[in-house]
Amino acid sequence: MTYLIISFLTLLLVYSVVNYFYFEAPLHLDQNKSYWALDHPVAVNPSLTVDAEADIVIIGGGYTGLSAAWHLAKENPGKRIILLEAKTLGNGASGRHGGMVLPAIMPNPVRRSAEMAKLKAAYDYSVASIEKIRAIEEASGISCDLVTNGFLYTIFRKGEVAKMQKFAAQFKSYGFPIEYWDKKMVESRVGTSRYEGALYIKDGGSVHAMKLVHALKVLCEREGVAIYENSKVKEICEGKQIKLIVGDNSCKIITGHLVLATNAFTSKLGYFKGKVMPLHLVNAATRPLTDTEMQSVQWACRLPFADSRLALYHLALTPDNRIVIGGGYADYFYNNRLDFKGDKNRISNILKEELAIMFPGLHNLTFDSVWNGVMGLTMDMEEIFGLTGSHQNISYVLGYNGHGVNLSIMYGQVIADLYAGKTSAFLRARDGKSLPIPPEPFRYFGVQPILKFANWYDSKK
Ligand SMILES: Cc1cc2nc3c(=O)[nH]c(=O)nc-3n(C[C@H](O)[C@H](O)[C@H](O)COP(=O)(O)OP(=O)(O)OC[C@H]3O[C@@H](n4cnc5c(N)ncnc54)[C@H](O)[C@@H]3O)c2cc1C
Repeated sequence: MTYLIISFLTLLLVYSVVNYFYFEAPLHLDQNKSYWALDHPVAVNPSLTVDAEADIVIIGGGYTGLSAAWHLAKENPGKRIILLEAKTLGNGASGRHGGMVLPAIMPNPVRRSAEMAKLKAAYDYSVASIEKIRAIEEASGISCDLVTNGFLYTIFRKGEVAKMQKFAAQFKSYGFPIEYWDKKMVESRVGTSRYEGALYIKDGGSVHAMKLVHALKVLCEREGVAIYENSKVKEICEGKQIKLIVGDNSCKIITGHLVLATNAFTSKLGYFKGKVMPLHLVNAATRPLTDTEMQSVQWACRLPFADSRLALYHLALTPDNRIVIGGGYADYFYNNRLDFKGDKNRISNILKEELAIMFPGLHNLTFDSVWNGVMGLTMDMEEIFGLTGSHQNISYVLGYNGHGVNLSIMYGQVIADLYAGKTSAFLRARDGKSLPIPPEPFRYFGVQPILKFANWYDSKK
């Protein structure tokens, strides 16, 4: 018996190691069909067709990549900067999100012991970044529908109220602009009796995903960044001079510094397989509500909100009164698969039912668009960042855990600081490290019960 158990465990270990190195699912990029992409299509740049040299190359055309390119170009005039996107700008999470702009404050269930002063420093830095989004709008001349009225963290269970009140009081005493709202207040300001209370955080708001992509693209190109779309990086050869193999024609690029801005997709390049994993989410947008429907909803404060359930429902209102809703169910597929194998109709129905419970006046409402996307998940729910590679000339920021709209813009500056060798306030406030995520099959078989538990737990109030 002991022999059998030892043999089984050895086989499992060998399988796990072999699988880790050789059986990563390929990079799969489906078309972004989000409401944002349909509402605001952005013209696509040509792909890379010749070999090139550059001082800095950025892989990934989401907010992290675009913001990094913009900051690096502004701070290093004259340097040749290339951004490579495998499909089209904003085709990843940046063009598919739930529209919420969040500062660095969400109650983190894993890291409770972080020093308050550091948390506050990180918070202040992230709030300054929200102002930067305003500056991006103004400088690019493209309105991104940015609204900065704050956001709500709504409390689903009565049993969580005391803990959240304590959280609010503690954070307030350290200067965070946070208030506890009781059930009545939530009812009168959001128009739903679904919640037992909420935390109101003054900083935050909402934005149009693809308009922000567009605005960043305009600013990057104005600073001379060369952006190539449909240009997938297939191989990275590290060295003092890094060599990249790009696109169908296998063009070569030589560069002195590389930025990995590939978030949930990063394991496909052979990096951080054990640190960031892709989690598939579904979001949906309604048609614009009529005036009568808006009156029935009574969402007077118009604040976006995310709730305390494990399935993390979140809702935002667009300027033309569409509701963008997400959450309800998350999927993980074996070996970090990126092609969505879930049941979008089922999740869409969960979201529809949730909307009708929150706002009974909307029970007949259908969605104009329903879309899926992948977010980068880390083990302790915080981003990882730093320098890597044989010559420490590859910078990276990955794994925003579904809170990356504002943070990814902010990290553009952090990457420029890393490149310049500067230790900015944010780099002092966070360590950028994270615990390892177990390899397959432990990852898959570990995540499934957690997702099942989340469903069961969320169904209880
Ligand atoms: C459904 C959903 C809802 C969300 N809602 C919110 C929200 O409301 N608020 C919030 O704060 N956060 C939210 N997030 C998270 C947020 O959208 C992300 O954290 C943020 O957009 C990450 O930006 P990024 O640039 O790092 O990554 P991405 O936007 O994913 O960009 C990575 C890019 O890299 C490209 N790429 C990958 N591999 C290669 C390669 N080999 N060569 C070239 N290019 C490559 C991809 O095509 C992609 O465009 C949500 C995420 C999802 C999926």
